Amino acid sequence: MAIIAFIGLGNMGGPMARNLIKAGHTLRGFDMVAKNVEAAGATACKSAAEAVKGAETVVTMLPAGPHVRSVYDEILPACAKGTLLADCSTIDVDTARAVAKKAEGYGLDMVDAPVSGGTGGAEAGTLTFMVGGSARAFERAQPLLAQMGKTIVHAGGPGNGQAAKICNNMILGISMVAVAEGFSLAEKLGLDAQKLFDISSKSSGQCWSMTTYCPVPGPVPTSPANRDYRPGFTADMMLKDMKLAQAAANGAGQSIPMGAAAQALYALMVAGGRGSMDFSAIIKTLQGK
Ligand code: NAD
Repeated sequence: MAIIAFIGLGNMGGPMARNLIKAGHTLRGFDMVAKNVEAAGATACKSAAEAVKGAETVVTMLPAGPHVRSVYDEILPACAKGTLLADCSTIDVDTARAVAKKAEGYGLDMVDAPVSGGTGGAEAGTLTFMVGGSARAFERAQPLLAQMGKTIVHAGGPGNGQAAKICNNMILGISMVAVAEGFSLAEKLGLDAQKLFDISSKSSGQCWSMTTYCPVPGPVPTSPANRDYRPGFTADMMLKDMKLAQAAANGAGQSIPMGAAAQALYALMVAGGRGSMDFSAIIKTLQGK
């Protein structure tokens, strides 16, 4: 069993850390909010640099790129030789590649390993990890990630885990708008939502946004629409990921017109005060409700 430093124990990091403790590891934790460390059951440290002292592995689960950059600037000089670093935050590809290069400069193995599966997956230990890094870093990280998740995929070199995450979530964001438009048009045409679902979920319009997160109440009883759009996955987070996709597309010279349109719609939704609702409530924005 290993000594693991865990930095960022919020909605996702908290339950992920608890699963590592359950697996028998010793956790040294640091979070800007001290009570988050206590709630996760980790040993509280005064700083990120103190947390990594004596740790064989470091896991970070932070809000965005600037937080990862500043924490890595602090911890890299404090890590012992041979330490493995896994950043599980969802951040921009450029930052992921920049911190990986810095870690390499210190002779440390690092993976970017963003997740899919939300807080439910974090609690159940069923997350999907999309991993970027060298073959050696992936091989070292795999057993640890498997204690927090079910599906661990090596997406390629440094930053490729973030690239996979951003592309996947852009597809999700766009497909939810498409499904919401379909159900909105059906209502105006006098077509019952359940009938559209019965037909479309077995036809070529079928997708995850329809069959798991259906944006109207009824057809999928577990979808957020049945609990007044309590998340799930907030519109704030979806907007963050759509912006990451747009920034990556700008940098890479790839046109993503549907991604751009979907981003503008989620921005409208958030500006309308619905940022903390599930992103499937985009249907209300489309319907002008
Ligand atoms: P969160 O805000 O609940 O947790 C982030 C934690 O980091 C907070 O506890 C905060 O206090 C701490 N923190 C911030 N700056 C810090 C610093 N400098 N040093 C130490 N701690 C610091 O967010 P979350 O929902 O846990 O999300 C974390 C990451 O996971 C984000 O990148 C998010 O996009 C991604 N993600 C979230 C979900 C989800 O459903 N919540 C799903 C997939 C991916």
